[in-house]
Amino acid sequence: MSSSFEPARVVIAGAGVAALEAVLALRDYGQGRVRVSLLAPDDTFIYRPTSVGEPFGHARAQSFPMEAVLDGLAVDHVTDRLKWVDSEARQVHTEGGQQLDYDALLLALGARRHAWTEHALTLEPELMDEQLHGIVQDLEGGWVRSLAFIAPTGAAWPLPLYELALMSAGRAYESYADATVTLITPEESPLAVFGQAASDAVSKLLAAHGVQTITSTQCAVHKSGTITLHPSGEELQAQRIVTMPELSGPAIPGIPHHGDHGFLRVDRYGRVTDLERVYAAGDTVDFPIKQGGLAAQQADAAAESIAALAGAEIKPKGVVPMLYGALWDGERTLYMRARATGTRGSSSRAGWTPLWEPAGKINARLLSAHLETIRDRALTGEAAPARNPS
Ligand SMILES: Cc1cc2nc3c(=O)[nH]c(=O)nc-3n(C[C@H](O)[C@H](O)[C@H](O)COP(=O)(O)OP(=O)(O)OC[C@H]3O[C@@H](n4cnc5c(N)ncnc54)[C@H](O)[C@@H]3O)c2cc1C
Repeated sequence: MSSSFEPARVVIAGAGVAALEAVLALRDYGQGRVRVSLLAPDDTFIYRPTSVGEPFGHARAQSFPMEAVLDGLAVDHVTDRLKWVDSEARQVHTEGGQQLDYDALLLALGARRHAWTEHALTLEPELMDEQLHGIVQDLEGGWVRSLAFIAPTGAAWPLPLYELALMSAGRAYESYADATVTLITPEESPLAVFGQAASDAVSKLLAAHGVQTITSTQCAVHKSGTITLHPSGEELQAQRIVTMPELSGPAIPGIPHHGDHGFLRVDRYGRVTDLERVYAAGDTVDFPIKQGGLAAQQADAAAESIAALAGAEIKPKGVVPMLYGALWDGERTLYMRARATGTRGSSSRAGWTPLWEPAGKINARLLSAHLETIRDRALTGEAAPARNPS
């Protein structure tokens, strides 16, 4: 496609886990044959998984200046938002009125979030502390005696609600508060996507913390404080009801999406169905599980495909999706690993020692190590290597 003098123009839209993993993978696979533009409004990368600890007084979610993340990677950061795609002309148009030509486009736009009930508190990852701090205080003080966490029925992030339920129950116990913490989920067993061994370990952990767990149940909340359980039709009262948003796809004009929820359909090589030279990875694709580790695997696969398209000597392997989960109860971390196979993972493992390295909450092959390096540099005051000429 491109001569050795003219690298392929790769536009990556987004600057989250999938986009940044793809930047790093293209640096490795691209063999100098790609020039990457990162189109995203973010000036900071926030490591979301750690935000669950904030309302309990644990450290704030880690954040990394985008400048430091991209330093030395020869990436052109276009600080704007993707508005629409003209796939015939191979151009993306931005909200700020810019036009970027591409030889390959990777959509890594994450998911849109929706509250599914107005009678419960729907958590916003950026506002976790603000939204939950008061509830945690009321729990400690004995003013809240029943707290329910409801997992949504549609696409959602699986881990945080479990962590919040565990930490809340732990905090109530430490404060000698007499409170019932309930977790309600449509899954047939707790965190069933991580497979049998992991689900058994999570069930034990919930029981040890005294979290009342109701599985195989969908909920409706028609009025504040009352949860209707389906299919039983029973009603459960809770003084505070907390849930996560349901997720949907990005709805970008010019990009076809599939199903009701607007996620993008891709093959195992990250290629968007029915479009030439357009790829997608992460929460934005129609894979039923939304996880940072998966987002990184999908980004790696898409980067391989793009590098091959640009003429690099690489044979794309495609994704064999694996799930990696680190469930934190405020004190200890339960590590879980499984092959992602439908609603119940296979080859499941769980244990209190890390099952991958570096043992962060998001297991991203390249990004995890990259973020560790930035952390270390910040601690030692060491400068990043000089930017490569593109
Ligand atoms: C509280 C919480 C805890 C979690 N815990 C874990 C965990 O322990 N382990 C785990 O693996 N996963 C966890 N996850 C899930 C994980 O964070 C996501 O699956 C992951 O971030 C998805 O990566 P992504 O790149 O697809 O999307 P995101 O990380 O959401 O990034 C999307 C990017 O797209 C950009 N964008 C959006 N629209 C546009 C546009 N129009 N133009 C340009 N850019 C745009 C955004 O600014 C952002 O940079 C957790 C999530 C939450 C909320």
